[in-house]
Amino acid sequence: MRLSSYFLPVLKETPAEAQVVSHRLMLRAGMIKQQAAGIYSWLPLGFKVLRKLENIVHEEQIKAGHIPIQMPILQSADLWRESGRYDDYGQEMLRIKDRQDRDLLYTPTAEEMVTDIFRSHVSSYKDLPLTLYQIQWKFRDEIRPRFGIMRGREFYMKDGYNFDLTKEDALHSYNRHLVSYLKTYERMGLQAIPMRADSGPIGGDNTHEFLVLAETGESEVFYDSKVTDLTFGDRDIDYNDKSACQSVLDEFTSLYARTDETHDPKLFAELPADRQKSARGIEVGQIFYFGTKYSETMGAQVADDEGNKMPVHMGSHGIGVSRLIGAIIEASHDENGIIWPEGVTPFHCGIVNLKQGDVEADDACEALYKSLNALGLEPLYDDRNERAGGKFATMDLIGLPWRLTVGPRGLKNGVVELTNRKSGISEEISPEGAVEKLASVYRSVTVGDFLFR
Ligand code: ATP
Ligand code: MG
Repeated sequence: MRLSSYFLPVLKETPAEAQVVSHRLMLRAGMIKQQAAGIYSWLPLGFKVLRKLENIVHEEQIKAGHIPIQMPILQSADLWRESGRYDDYGQEMLRIKDRQDRDLLYTPTAEEMVTDIFRSHVSSYKDLPLTLYQIQWKFRDEIRPRFGIMRGREFYMKDGYNFDLTKEDALHSYNRHLVSYLKTYERMGLQAIPMRADSGPIGGDNTHEFLVLAETGESEVFYDSKVTDLTFGDRDIDYNDKSACQSVLDEFTSLYARTDETHDPKLFAELPADRQKSARGIEVGQIFYFGTKYSETMGAQVADDEGNKMPVHMGSHGIGVSRLIGAIIEASHDENGIIWPEGVTPFHCGIVNLKQGDVEADDACEALYKSLNALGLEPLYDDRNERAGGKFATMDLIGLPWRLTVGPRGLKNGVVELTNRKSGISEEISPEGAVEKLASVYRSVTVGDFLFR
């Protein structure tokens, strides 16, 4: 992409309404625009990152054997009357009437609808296990939308639902989700720690929230510092292997890690004092086994060989796709702007032409631009007639992991400058060498190019 023909409305001033750094940087980098409280337009740069995250989520869900679908954003209230949640959900549900005076609602979550799909088409235990998921906009009329897209009213969420014959099978589905989530967050350059969470009125201890530690997080968390040493890494896992999935769950959930709702000060105090940590965290996902709650009330049953019908065991599993962008920025920025992890960056590198109009500099930039594109990488070429200082400031603000700086002086010696955004370290290197290096850097990071670019 050439910056002269892109739409990147960066702001010079720090917007006064933004309380946290991720919100400030997203506004300044021209990623989002607020349209109403907690409702945003996604401008090109923000939309690109959203798509990258979405692609990673799809890839990891599909690897885990889960099947993508798309359900509508508007749902009929009748389904929610069946489960009893139409009245219970409270003011976070946005209720709408159509011209025939029928009650509709804007989806806050989709247990009822997916259960309706299931009961319409599945009747035999032979069709199990089944996990359907979608990535779709949700609306919750939050009392206090804030922190930009981190607590929006409209937000983008992956919501997945498993249907299993037995509790044991459903717990395997739960474990599969936990493993796939660990992989998903790590590919986004994040550490998200599964913490025992509150299961609310349904009871049971089969729910975990995934938290990214950050000072601006809304949740209070307590954990054993050893839990932050755990990484999933690039190990291969067979999602059909029940004991392999169970042992990952055991590894990641045995150490003390809880949100304030389930915090047990007595148990916590048994940890060595230097390992007792309390901090703030951003909830970026939650997994939940809830048994037959919806299948019983909504009649989602399967029959065994003898024709005996039984309600299926279910769980639901969410990832806050749009909130993740805020969490990534909270975890990865400096005073000059965002620092994208390579796995989610909107463009793979920036090209800064120090002397636009100089034939040699222009030619060298064009050549770099073409070779990077030919390798399937997406550079953002700043070909505007601007001063170098302004170009550098924009590149730092939007946070591309690598920057190529091209000017007549370097070219005389056959070199360009390759700078790493995170370390700030620059090296002089031949244009071919720079292209090769970027190609090898990105070869080792799988970028989510599954559906869209
Ligand atoms: P919270 O406690 O933050 O209100 P929740 O527990 O009600 O979230 P879930 O129903 O677990 O949310 O939804 C799954 C995921 O969707 C959450 O883990 C979070 O990452 C994301 N999410 C929930 N509410 C919002 C929101 N208002 N804005 C952005 N993302 C959200
Ligand atoms: Mg939650």
